[in-house]
Amino acid sequence: MKIILATSNKGKVKEIQKSFDMFEVVPFSEVIKPFEIVEDGDSFKENAIIKAKAVYDAMEDKNSIVLSDDSGISVPILSNEPGIKSARYAGANATAKGNLHKLINELKKRDIKKTPAFYTAAIALATKEGIFSVHGWMYGEVIDEQRGENGFGYDPIFIPDGFDKTLGELDESIKKEFSHRSKALRLAKRLIG
Ligand code: IMP
Repeated sequence: MKIILATSNKGKVKEIQKSFDMFEVVPFSEVIKPFEIVEDGDSFKENAIIKAKAVYDAMEDKNSIVLSDDSGISVPILSNEPGIKSARYAGANATAKGNLHKLINELKKRDIKKTPAFYTAAIALATKEGIFSVHGWMYGEVIDEQRGENGFGYDPIFIPDGFDKTLGELDESIKKEFSHRSKALRLAKRLIG
């Protein structure tokens, strides 16, 4: 079965392809002309549904399943910021590095070396049977310095509960086992059957 991903984020595409290795998983940009999707929802779930629907509506083949991921990191001491703004925390055209530095700076400004944080992933499926959504979370702490090169986005400052290294330092298998995205994908897999 072919699953079309409503994302072009290379980090997400790689992780979803690895978790869904029993399916053919392709980013939508390989199937239709890529277009910009305005993510103006108020929650991860709303944004995931906006993305999945936008791509499904643009697809000719209505038998395809479109899968989207809307995700981000929330830091309770920063009023759960950046949250749904994780991809544009440092501004409208922010890069992953820019967003990471902004979060590190927000911690440094407050003299915070380490504080609780959590990742959320909302996965939406747009299918001919309708729209479905599931969530997954990963809890841990963020630190005020980058460590390691693995993963993407905020991973070099995120230490998952039960570990003493960041996701940047830990083997990719740890993320595959315990991440917010992997947990949500496991639930999505049950829906696809
Ligand atoms: P989205 O593409 O609008 O869902 O934005 C998600 C953003 O959240 C990404 O650009 C990353 O900055 C961050 N993010 C989501 N999941 C992860 C993850 O697994 N590791 C690191 N950063 C993540």
